[in-house]
Amino acid sequence: MLPVWAQIVLAIVVVVLLGVLFSILIAVFSKYFAVKEDPRKEKVMSLIPGVNCGACGHPGCSGLVDALISGKETHVKQCKVIKDDKANEIKNYLNETPGPDGQTLKVDL
Ligand code: SF4
Repeated sequence: MLPVWAQIVLAIVVVVLLGVLFSILIAVFSKYFAVKEDPRKEKVMSLIPGVNCGACGHPGCSGLVDALISGKETHVKQCKVIKDDKANEIKNYLNETPGPDGQTLKVDL
């Protein structure tokens, strides 16, 4: 049986070692299993109303944005509450900005 002070030191050492081990594991997993998101999504999300009403038929605004940047949806005005200037800005941005594959989209109002 270890003296009390040795048990305390041992507990501290074990906790620190576990902390270091799990930090390394998190760093490795975040590097190799990171989900790469299309960089255009953040810009389009900043222009979409963000009401999350579902009137576009998608599960919230991010659903419509995902459909737009993946090419499954081609009309920005599928969003029923977006103002014309923001819709035009999204259309122009997506038609002019290439995605990770180097291709631009063909998006209309
Ligand atoms: S209609 Fe527009 S505001 Fe409503 S969820 Fe769809 S994208 Fe968002």
